[in-house]
Amino acid sequence: MTWQQRVLRVNLTRGSCEVEPLNMEWAQQYLGQRGLGSKYLYEEMDPAADALSAANKLIFATGPLTGTLASTGGRYSVITKGALTGAIASSNSGGKFGAELKLAGYDLLIIEGESPKPVYLSIEDDRAQLCDARHLWGTTVWHTEEAITAGNPQIKVASIGPAGESGCRFACVVNDRHRAAGRSGVGTVMGAKKLKAIAVRGTRGLASAQGHATLIAKNRKIKQNTGYTMNGTLGMMDVTNRFGSLPTRNNRQVQFEDAEKIGVKAMQTPNRNGHRNLVTNAACFGCTIGCGRICKIDPSHFSVRDKPEYHGASGGLEYETAYALGSAVGVSDIDAATYAGFLCNEYGMDPISLGGSIAAAMELYEIGAIDSTITDGLELRFGSAEALCTITEWIARGEGFGQDVAMGSKRLCQKYGYPELSMAVKGQEFAAYDGRAMQGMGLGYATSNRGACHLRADPYSHDFKTTDIEGKAAIVKNTQDEIAFIDSTGLCAFTGGAGWSMNDYSELVDAVCEGDWSEDKMRLVGERIWNLEKQFNRKAGLGRADDTLPRRILDEPAPSGVGKGLVCRLEDMLPDYYRARGWDDEGNPTATTLARLGLE
Ligand code: SF4
Repeated sequence: MTWQQRVLRVNLTRGSCEVEPLNMEWAQQYLGQRGLGSKYLYEEMDPAADALSAANKLIFATGPLTGTLASTGGRYSVITKGALTGAIASSNSGGKFGAELKLAGYDLLIIEGESPKPVYLSIEDDRAQLCDARHLWGTTVWHTEEAITAGNPQIKVASIGPAGESGCRFACVVNDRHRAAGRSGVGTVMGAKKLKAIAVRGTRGLASAQGHATLIAKNRKIKQNTGYTMNGTLGMMDVTNRFGSLPTRNNRQVQFEDAEKIGVKAMQTPNRNGHRNLVTNAACFGCTIGCGRICKIDPSHFSVRDKPEYHGASGGLEYETAYALGSAVGVSDIDAATYAGFLCNEYGMDPISLGGSIAAAMELYEIGAIDSTITDGLELRFGSAEALCTITEWIARGEGFGQDVAMGSKRLCQKYGYPELSMAVKGQEFAAYDGRAMQGMGLGYATSNRGACHLRADPYSHDFKTTDIEGKAAIVKNTQDEIAFIDSTGLCAFTGGAGWSMNDYSELVDAVCEGDWSEDKMRLVGERIWNLEKQFNRKAGLGRADDTLPRRILDEPAPSGVGKGLVCRLEDMLPDYYRARGWDDEGNPTATTLARLGLE
């Protein structure tokens, strides 16, 4: 049994830290991480409460396979009501923090209330205490990690940067310098609670080593030297650009003429100064894939020429960041995009929402909805690497027009009278796939419980086969349920791309967890999690009107690529999707569905 069966509950208002037993009945129904954290959140908070109020809770949740010998078994999730979306948020991170929390003896860490002054939480196995963090408030993630660990690499830190403190709506929680629970503004919630960081050192180990031989045997099934190992996720850029689903300039185009300048080859080939962007790859705890990119900016580049502190290596571009800080804003300068990515890690911002919000601001500027008197003199034009770097610095520090962009594209575009220019669902900016050539992804974005996201459904292979919508509703529904389960195990979803099947996940969980964890049960648990999230959102006030896409994707035909001339046929797919889910025409789970899932 690899649940530690313990929850650490921290009340910031009272300043208390208490250990309580994990609800094992819920663990059998929701497994761990995303599922179990969502169950606790659903039971303990009023979904209608303001995300930034003391009534919101922030749950750090590991899975039963976190901290084990399973490849990629180092994941944790941060579950809360999202500051960006007002919907349930569940952001997943790797690195080493999650495993350390588990090895300190906790499945879940529940943060409640609001501290009167900045604090950080220090955990050393059974010893948990809140410490004064006034000296850290206003400092970056990188500084905070250095200050708290004081050179001891065994202490793992998850923290927020100045963006989370200043109320940037897409602030994230960063651990291990460049791994992040990135989406939906979970770092904004942490900042509102005045919790700067969580530092953890765990030596308790796992409750049992049962089943570990199975885990090791399964690890051998992960293909070595997969595309992820060699190229990270960036290899996808060639695929989507050729297909015509690479969002470009706020989705005005779907192919980027300079994609190769921010792609794999550009990252791996020395530039004319002999400088190579890629230094090496990196892996999270226990991972045998190692998709992470460690990169260096050319020291002679304008963005860092006078800033030696950025001349070292750090987390580099991945496919999503290369899109958000590249094609989405029309920028083909790999060093500028890498610099903006460094700032995201250092100041604690979700690069996808940051890039999507800057892209919206650039379109507002280009159509004349805002001008340089509003942008503090900045010429915010698509393709300007200088503008990308400058506005990212302003957003990170909460300065000038950066404060408007820090609200996220939805609030920004509403403020300046063009809400339709926000390329977002439920307030969360699109990931790197356009829903016109990829119809299944369009449906996946619209129905995602946490807003637009590429990691909530897996219609990729079918979308790349055909732009037809036949059968896509069922594929989206089924893969949403499967991913909800994988996100609850403690494993990384990229294991699917490296060779594991649903049967492998069920065998892995079954090997280490008490109870029957057949493939059928796994799918039922995933469906239960999805419906629980949906129920949270309904109580938070979200409904049928929120399962939609921006007008551009629904009404403006794709200008090129395989999907040329197509719009997303969302309204044709949605009824089939609701039917497949056992929901009514308004997208509400029926009483029969709720009863079947034990959610009455
Ligand atoms: S595949 Fe990549 S993101 Fe997933 S655990 Fe491994 S290094 Fe981390």
